[in-house]
Amino acid sequence: LDPVLAIVGRPNVGKSTLVNRILGRREAVVEDTPGVTRDRVMYSATWNGSNFTLVDTGGWEHDARGIHARVADQAEAAVDLADAVLLVVDATVGATATDEAVVRMLRRKKKPVILVANKVDDIQNEADAAALWSLGLGEPMPVSALHGRGTADMLDKAVEVM
Ligand code: GDP
Ligand code: MG
Repeated sequence: LDPVLAIVGRPNVGKSTLVNRILGRREAVVEDTPGVTRDRVMYSATWNGSNFTLVDTGGWEHDARGIHARVADQAEAAVDLADAVLLVVDATVGATATDEAVVRMLRRKKKPVILVANKVDDIQNEADAAALWSLGLGEPMPVSALHGRGTADMLDKAVEVM
């Protein structure tokens, strides 16, 4: 059975864009409207000869109610079955209370977590990524899911910890 890599984070941070980047094709639905990926979606992926199962999830809402509660449950369920987790944060926004709630959930799970500082589209945004050290998950990996910047280093690390 291939190891499972779950992608979690609040809505609109670029999780589905990152899935498409990893797969090399547009399979996950990307939306400008937050909260479009509602259920867990699994994909077979490969990096440098390592096969793994990628799980895309809807966003995690801190004050979860209704649909958001279901989405949050899906994120937690995805983490439960994962060998490693990519926590995606929007570096252009910075750490929010919702991100901090996700971090608390992840701490309880004791799974390896890679902190992905997404939307670092160019070198000027690197400082935004560094600010995410405050989440206490170690080194933020600056990535642009949209352009592919930094995703190779991120995948090297993911394969290493899975
Ligand atoms: P999800 O809700 O976390 O799955 O986020 P999506 O993948 O649906 O993306 C939400 C929005 O962020 C879309 O408009 C994407 O085009 C945009 N986006 C995703 N990744 C990047 C990135 O690396 N840079 C920029 N500038 N925008 C991004
Ligand atoms: Mg999505």
